[in-house]
Amino acid sequence: MIDQLHQTLAKIRIVLVGTTHPGNIGATARALKTMGLNRLELVAPRCAPDAETMARAAGADDLVEHAGMHQDLVSALAGCRLVIGASARLRSLEWPTLEPPECAVRLLAEARVGDVALVLGRERSGLTNEELARCHYLVHIPANPAFSSLNVAAAAQVLAYEIRQAARRQAGECLTDPPRDLATAEEMEGFYVHLAATLIELDFSDPEQSRTLNRRLRRLFNRARPDRVELNILRGILSAAQGRKRPDRFTRRQSPTLVEQTPPQAYSD
Ligand code: SAH
Repeated sequence: MIDQLHQTLAKIRIVLVGTTHPGNIGATARALKTMGLNRLELVAPRCAPDAETMARAAGADDLVEHAGMHQDLVSALAGCRLVIGASARLRSLEWPTLEPPECAVRLLAEARVGDVALVLGRERSGLTNEELARCHYLVHIPANPAFSSLNVAAAAQVLAYEIRQAARRQAGECLTDPPRDLATAEEMEGFYVHLAATLIELDFSDPEQSRTLNRRLRRLFNRARPDRVELNILRGILSAAQGRKRPDRFTRRQSPTLVEQTPPQAYSD
């Protein structure tokens, strides 16, 4: 799944047109690399990458070193099946315009089949009408309408972030969390039976009145989606509370303040 994600992200080119400040090239490279994008294309930059570029790249030097250099936009877009242009302004001539999450979904969908491009413009003047006309869609980051122009690297960061989030949603998993061995429905039922019995034994709840309490507790534990190990810990706690297990190491170390703060109380709905 993760390999497939990398392959898809590798099909997305980020094209910077006519960049003036060398630092912005580096900052864009960094923005892309943090989100797992690695194809940077430069169209007629007004500056050569320099020490400031590398300083702002802060470890994304490889993207700068491998960046494609092009005389014009047509050459940077060669082979792309979908082109989306990032625009700081909503243009007078209406062009199909997407919000960043939708832009990300479309880029990813098409990147499964072939190359796609996201084009960002010049710091001062953005993209020309002719360049915009080469785009299938525009994407606009809905910023403060009275001050809607982001720094080009900041715009790249927002759009790259959305691409990564869309990819993670589509992969149906959180890429940073290892898959969890969740407790099954039967194991959860076993736990709820155990919990109800324990609460009665502890005189915490009256079985006649505890229906709402049971539902609230179910809602709480279902929300937590415990894994098997966590559920075993909870059941161990219940067993200990029932007096079946009283490990000496815990009874001896019991904290007086903790006991004082939580006096046993009968529960009623
Ligand atoms: N003064 C220019 C702004 C250029 S900002 C103008 O009005 O067009 C440089 C580039 O960053 C833009 O060409 C665009 O690609 C991107 N960008 C900046 N703010 C953006 C926004 N709110 N939405 C989408 N892209 C944006």
